[in-house]
Amino acid sequence: MTQSKMLESLYFDGKYQLASGEQLELRNPADGGSLGSFAEADPNDVDAAVQSAKAALPGWSASTPAERSAVLLRWAQELSSRAEELAQLESAQTGKPIRLAREFDVPGTIDNTEFFAGAARQLGGLAAGEYSAQHTSMVRREAIGVVGSIAPWNYPLQMAAWKVLPAIAAGNTIVLKPSELTPGTTLAFAEAATAAGLPNGVFNVVAGRGLGTGEALVSHPDVAMTSFTGSTAVGRKIMELASAGGKRVHLELGGKAPMLVFEDADLEAAAQGAVAGSMINAGQDCTAVTRAYLHVSLIDRFIERVSELLAKLRIGDPLNPDTDLGSLISVRHRDRVAGFVDRAVAAGAVLHTGGRVPEGTPSAAAYYSPTLLSGATQDSELVQQEIFGPVLVVLPFESEDQAIRLANDTPFGLAASVWTKDVARAMRTSSAIQAGCVWVNDHIPIISEMPHGGYKASGFGKDMSVFSLEEYTNLKHVMIEREGQAVKAWHRTVFSNPAR
Ligand code: NAD
Repeated sequence: MTQSKMLESLYFDGKYQLASGEQLELRNPADGGSLGSFAEADPNDVDAAVQSAKAALPGWSASTPAERSAVLLRWAQELSSRAEELAQLESAQTGKPIRLAREFDVPGTIDNTEFFAGAARQLGGLAAGEYSAQHTSMVRREAIGVVGSIAPWNYPLQMAAWKVLPAIAAGNTIVLKPSELTPGTTLAFAEAATAAGLPNGVFNVVAGRGLGTGEALVSHPDVAMTSFTGSTAVGRKIMELASAGGKRVHLELGGKAPMLVFEDADLEAAAQGAVAGSMINAGQDCTAVTRAYLHVSLIDRFIERVSELLAKLRIGDPLNPDTDLGSLISVRHRDRVAGFVDRAVAAGAVLHTGGRVPEGTPSAAAYYSPTLLSGATQDSELVQQEIFGPVLVVLPFESEDQAIRLANDTPFGLAASVWTKDVARAMRTSSAIQAGCVWVNDHIPIISEMPHGGYKASGFGKDMSVFSLEEYTNLKHVMIEREGQAVKAWHRTVFSNPAR
């Protein structure tokens, strides 16, 4: 029997360290092959990483915005010089198409790093002023402390970047736990930070599973804030755990994004948008289109066109630049996705295309074909729950009010899109939809300057943009008495005798 390659997995004090937890195997989900194994961080390893972050905090939080910005700019250059290596690693550990990793994950991370280099110098607030005649008031934004962060497997590099960059741009230090399925690019991200001159201990990585490594990080007494991206169920557990220590919590959770296609929409644009928006990253995207609500007059033509486009998607080897759809993250997750589809069909939903493992798929490979369904009821699990796979369900509506009601009728509220040529309708519907992002005539694009985050069961807290910087700061009011009097006017409320 051959021994699998040992991978380094614990990073603090600016270098790799030996972890002492259980050995975990990393697999490429597109073929089931081993990528190596690593030791997960046990609670003592987590403590050592937190102590490294704690030791780095006074120096880093006292550095000037210009100094932080300079490191972040060099970090972006480091990432650019390692772009192809990062894309290959991201594709191997997730099974996603190399084109997506090269054109979205890696450049998105580099752009975010450059954005926060600028944003670090733009921490805004109120102008100082005399809001009372006797005082000058000003606000200060200060770092919170050591942040403990937990990230998911669907966009491992970008999700790490969304957590780490605003935290450290604002002067905090951080310990991040990537998903146990995908630690590789997060560790490479940390190495690049050290190479760029980020002081040791500012950004540390502990790899391991949620129950052991993750819970040790969230509940560590020296961790002042927990920021989390992942499922709603785990997010709620983390909130409970963090609340025991009274910690600040930032949660980016699951989604079930609708698209609303009105009778005046460009149907071809909506069909193209539905396919790209639902199949990106094999549907393992928290903002992916999952529910397409169509005006009844368009529904048949939409199903026909979307089925045609789905049939053209090339599913297969993620490293082939022509591949459109890679594998899902694991066979276990693929079987969970298939379970939703099978139960929906058994309950009477109509399967237009997909709904199966592609022919010839080896048993260890996690592929699932692009799937289109209709005829499900609004209250079914297919329409209500996050499936997180290449599955789109089409549903009808007759009026704008009904469309809004159906769009808002799930526990989630992360993202949505409206498709219409009527500007007034675009304005009305984008304000009525309860979600953190609403696109008009598009679905998916994100940009570093704009906030990303949910409503309702999709969480709270914003990633990217200057708004995420605010999440990672404490706001302090400093009030300076400006008359130099021993007895102040307001003392009357305490002393009745003015001649004391
Ligand atoms: P998950 O919730 O299963 O795991 C997320 C992370 O939490 C992993 O690192 C995992 O190891 C860790 N974890 C699990 N249990 C834990 C515990 N008890 N204590 C501490 N940590 C624990 O999610 P996933 O399957 O990795 O990712 C998919 C989910 O992430 C989907 O629900 C998706 O919508 C969501 N997501 C949301 C956003 C967003 O911005 N809102 C972005 C990407 C992914």
